[in-house]
Amino acid sequence: NWENIKGDIEFENVSFQYQNGEKVLDNFNLKINAGETVALVGETGSGKSTIVNLACRFYEPTEGKILIDGVDYKSRSLSWLHSNIGYVLQSPHLFSGTIRENIRYGSKNASENDIIEAAKRVNAHEFIEKLEKKYDTEVGEGGGKLSTGQKQLVSFARAIVSNPSIFVLDEATSSIDTETEKKIQYAIEKVLKNRTSFIIAHRLSTIINADKILVVKNGKIIEHGNHNEL
Ligand code: ATP
Ligand code: MG
Repeated sequence: NWENIKGDIEFENVSFQYQNGEKVLDNFNLKINAGETVALVGETGSGKSTIVNLACRFYEPTEGKILIDGVDYKSRSLSWLHSNIGYVLQSPHLFSGTIRENIRYGSKNASENDIIEAAKRVNAHEFIEKLEKKYDTEVGEGGGKLSTGQKQLVSFARAIVSNPSIFVLDEATSSIDTETEKKIQYAIEKVLKNRTSFIIAHRLSTIINADKILVVKNGKIIEHGNHNEL
């Protein structure tokens, strides 16, 4: 098992470009303190997903450093970070396997009860129970048999089971039905509590709950404040 981290995240002079792409971030700096909820907003293509994907180490900085609890994450293993960070991404990634396996992913010791409790907490239990094979339902390659909203709910349940110090959310922009939308909203409230939360917010209800809102444009933070200030 890995030691728990506190959850400070710091971008120190980070530059980043995708292979064969232009520079998306140029000397980007950001400090998030453990326990804070920080929301990124900004127009499409401004670099929001790039920033949170770097925080999760799905990509690494081309220049500069990302520090977790003051330590450059490149000096640690990927599993060290991934055992402490939970994420729900814009296009949520599920593995071919059952719903149960997908919720348990990253928490080998989770019991059947832990899995069901987590699904209940984020309101995913209800739709899972309606599936013919319930928790034994195969989600298909990439989760193809579920809707985006359902995949996100399964990802929230996974994040609850692993109880990470850091939670990253890239809210889906794709159309999600009103009922699922409500469930996701509820799931967000449950998951953000008691951890560092780094979120890309499209819904006003998510933005309102943030301690800090950062407006991103062309890979730079052009404004910051809380909901009342902006
Ligand atoms: P949205 O609100 O639409 O999700 P975003 O703020 O999340 O947008 P990013 O996805 O971070 O924006 O994209 C920032 C820039 O990087 C864009 O110019 C985009 O075209 C480019 N980009 C994003 N992903 C890749 C990739 N995998 N390869 C090459 N370029 C990419
Ligand atoms: Mg994005």
